[in-house]
Amino acid sequence: MMLLTKKMIEIRSILNTVGQGGALTLPSIVVIGSQSSGKSSVLEAIVGHEFLPKGSNMVTRRPIELTLVNTPDAKAEYCEFPALGLGKITDFSQVQRTLTDLNLAVPAEQCVSDDPIQLTIHSPNIPDLSLIDLPGYIQVVGKDQPAELKQKIADLCDKYIQPPNVILAISAADVDLANSTALRSSRRVDPRGERTIGVITKMDLVDANRGVEMLSDRKYPLRLGYVGVVCKIPQQSSGLFGRSGVNVTSAIVKNENAYFSAHPLQFGPQSELAIGTTTLRHKLMHVLEQTMAASLASTREAIVQELEEATYEFKVQYNDRPLSAESYLAESLDSFKHSFKEFSEQFGRPQVRALLKEVLDQRVMDLLAKRYWNKLVDDLSPTQPDADPLSGLPTADASSLYWQRKLDASTSELTKLGVGRLATTVVASELQSHVDKLIAASTFASHPFAQRSIVDASSSILNDRFYSTSDQVENCIKPYKFEIEVDPNEWTKGRENVGRTLKEELKACDAAQKQLENSIGKRKLRDVMGFIDRVRKGDVVLEGDGGGGAGGFSSALLQQGREAVFLRDRADIIKMRLLAVKSKQCANLKNKYHCPEVFLDVVADKLTSTAVLFLNVELLSEFYYNFPRELDLRLGRHLNQTEIERFAREDPRVRKHLDVIKRKDMLEMVLEKIESLRQLEGRAKKEQTKS
Ligand code: GDP
Repeated sequence: MMLLTKKMIEIRSILNTVGQGGALTLPSIVVIGSQSSGKSSVLEAIVGHEFLPKGSNMVTRRPIELTLVNTPDAKAEYCEFPALGLGKITDFSQVQRTLTDLNLAVPAEQCVSDDPIQLTIHSPNIPDLSLIDLPGYIQVVGKDQPAELKQKIADLCDKYIQPPNVILAISAADVDLANSTALRSSRRVDPRGERTIGVITKMDLVDANRGVEMLSDRKYPLRLGYVGVVCKIPQQSSGLFGRSGVNVTSAIVKNENAYFSAHPLQFGPQSELAIGTTTLRHKLMHVLEQTMAASLASTREAIVQELEEATYEFKVQYNDRPLSAESYLAESLDSFKHSFKEFSEQFGRPQVRALLKEVLDQRVMDLLAKRYWNKLVDDLSPTQPDADPLSGLPTADASSLYWQRKLDASTSELTKLGVGRLATTVVASELQSHVDKLIAASTFASHPFAQRSIVDASSSILNDRFYSTSDQVENCIKPYKFEIEVDPNEWTKGRENVGRTLKEELKACDAAQKQLENSIGKRKLRDVMGFIDRVRKGDVVLEGDGGGGAGGFSSALLQQGREAVFLRDRADIIKMRLLAVKSKQCANLKNKYHCPEVFLDVVADKLTSTAVLFLNVELLSEFYYNFPRELDLRLGRHLNQTEIERFAREDPRVRKHLDVIKRKDMLEMVLEKIESLRQLEGRAKKEQTKS
């Protein structure tokens, strides 16, 4: 028959992981008693080890669901906290520490928590039992304890002593039974005393006759009766055996027997009284088995109903679509890699080239503005500040050393700006930002952990490649730092191209100007620009604007005005330069000093082509090859089952889906177990009637 209890306890544990409780569980033995009634001592005598939290500071604040598993063939004893994943613990003092920590983690102002701690103990020396230890009842609330503590403990105990649970009501022999809080509580929920076992502890502390009186009590009759015990863990064994981790059951029993056999008259073989820890153990096993078996039918009913609900939900909400954390991860990863492949197919050499050229075009524009467009005035006619800023350039003399030097210096600035670094940075950040976009559009968007892994994967590859790529590119453009040869075809292409670039730049200036106009108002902008122009000509002296504005304009407005003036001047110059570039003169390569725009564009184009060649090999191809592999590694092979599960559960929809399936599977499994249990039970009964 004992096999039945084991199996039922197993079912109970599985049902515990499905959660909810209520009808969806099997009964357990709930241990209640006042503080210091000897509750812990009884439990420890059954287990054979000291493992419960001790101390004056209300150390039991949460229920402890204790599952004892008898392992007849195993020598070693070990404990597990299934919810904590700490693995097998063989040191009972470590269990004690863990339980103490878990209990003390409940904040003092909350007093107690009804969230149970699950603890499973495997040992060849223990019976199969399921016990729930609860905080001890207190009589008076301590000075530093919250006033509602007493009530909270009583409420928590009330929750657990409901049917069909068995109540183990602990009372100490040195306290009058009429004052036993445990018995008083159990009476309220079990008035006919049908599912309460009374335990009288500390029998050694009262006169043996008084002990007999208590055990044969008729005032509080209990169908399951009273058991008298002496559970004090012998001092020498708590030190000696306790420390060495040896099971102390026999030491306790020996000590207990010594007491009872010292009073043969009262507790001798003739007495009908139930005494001793061993008797208690057997009683608990027997009562638990009976109670569990009696509940089996109704629990089965509840499970069937619950399973129907889960099956219905699975069908309606999820269309019976199977899902596991692994399959979810694999599908997500596949579709991400697929989208990455699509991206890689449309972001190749031509796209990198366009990207890079655009960046260099902008550098060329800035360079021109700095070296030519702004400085024309000073360079050409420093004594005539009013001269047309463009009048100088078209007449630039090709033999003039000045203009040669100027173009050389500009070219050199362009070739030496660190093209290797710049180009690598631009392409790497473009790749990174595309990866970000792909993540945002994928199922990984709702998975912070996977997102981090993907971003890490891409940045680690890009970082790895960064220096060698940028060095390679820099090396390969090196010749351009010394000499640049341009042929007529390149010149023509450059001329067309820079025409487009200038138009784009003009558009950008106009757009920025429009934006200022919209934000300030056309008139106001015109006024402030007029003021700035007058200041520049020297018509007006700019007074103030140490932050407080000037000329009736606020400082912020003046700043915007300056920006508008800059944009207007830049646009004017660009228009002129566009005319110059389009002019016949600029059609001819010989006139390159007249047309620095065209020349620099050709240089930028050469730099781009060379850079792209190496970026493609060193960065792009490498990235396209390694990234999917790195993803497989980080999100595939490296993850263990728990991590995969945690990943999938990050998405609430997936979590719900997985939960329904898990619940369904669990319930089906439990149901199967119950069915086979019933068959076992049936067979056992047949055997009994035969014999
Ligand atoms: P709990 O607060 O109800 O868990 O009570 P404990 O099990 O911690 O016991 C309270 C005190 O009573 C401890 O000092 C125990 O050593 C002592 N004690 C427990 N059982 C017995 C017993 O059968 N005989 C004697 N003499 N002392 C006991």
